Amino acid sequence: MVLKTHKGLLFGTALVAFAGAQAATAAELNLYTTREPGLIQPLLDAFTESTSITVNTIFLQDGVAERVIAEGERSPADVLMTVDAGVLVDLVEQGLTQSIESDVLNSTIPDTLRDDDGHWYALSLRARALYAAKDLDLSEFTYEQLADPDWKGRVCIRSGQHPYNVALTGSYIAHHGEEAAEQWLAGVKENLARPAGGGDRDVARDIMGDLCDIGIANSYYVGLMRSGKGGPEQEEWAKAIKMILPTFENGGTQVNITGAAVARYAPNKDEAIQFLEYLVSDEAQEIYAKANYEYPVNANATVDPLIAEYGTLRADTIDIAEGVKYRKTASELAEKVGFDN
Ligand code: FE
Repeated sequence: MVLKTHKGLLFGTALVAFAGAQAATAAELNLYTTREPGLIQPLLDAFTESTSITVNTIFLQDGVAERVIAEGERSPADVLMTVDAGVLVDLVEQGLTQSIESDVLNSTIPDTLRDDDGHWYALSLRARALYAAKDLDLSEFTYEQLADPDWKGRVCIRSGQHPYNVALTGSYIAHHGEEAAEQWLAGVKENLARPAGGGDRDVARDIMGDLCDIGIANSYYVGLMRSGKGGPEQEEWAKAIKMILPTFENGGTQVNITGAAVARYAPNKDEAIQFLEYLVSDEAQEIYAKANYEYPVNANATVDPLIAEYGTLRADTIDIAEGVKYRKTASELAEKVGFDN
């Protein structure tokens, strides 16, 4: 008997237990996640609704790895969900994940956005975008152009050591090599309108304030600002800019991901795989991506209109794990060229 409501399910389970029948444990899974509760709860509810699998959630600010390491082989964690490809790669390198096989995941997620050995999978994408003054005659842009002398004194960007920029430089190295990346970083620094710093949204603020004409910032902040979720002031900042999805000359747009992995000692592995497959379904992708104005990893899912009007994302052609490899070098280069000085 399948009961559809939560109440019904509880009632049914209680009856079975009371009758002393075969131990009928309701299916469940344990999710460790760094995503904000508000962003993810509607999705968990929808999953439980459609599968009757209960999701027990542990929200962790950070330190997923530390927690799972401390729990060891008896860890109840089934699914580990985090923001940032580097964090996922770290989890794999620490031996905290396991390889899974799923035709659904492999056919829905481009192979540049999942682990070659099935240890982790991207669920949504965040583009490293260009914010440009609205009246600027500009509709295409390459990351390489950021270092073009035409832009001298016109660029705003946060610290070169911030993980978002380290990831961008890491991808630049993956495309062009270390030496070219160093020259590029030095060129971008030459073009800065103000010292590198602040946050991504400050790029929009400073374009409005005529401090700069262009800058680099994440795509979802445009949705957050335009929607009014960041307050009335940020709505004004958003009105001053347009967003362009830059590409590498020899590739696509640099993206970071939110993603998930099945934990190495997952007690509920089947449910965990079922959960990941649900997360990339058309239905779930819209809820998941829209909650934070991200791009769905499933090409069939609709992009939020506040973001969609800036064009279709063509995620970079280089494997995202490739850029992750160069992060340490990227950080060293930012130091070397004095990017933040
Ligand atoms: Fe952010």
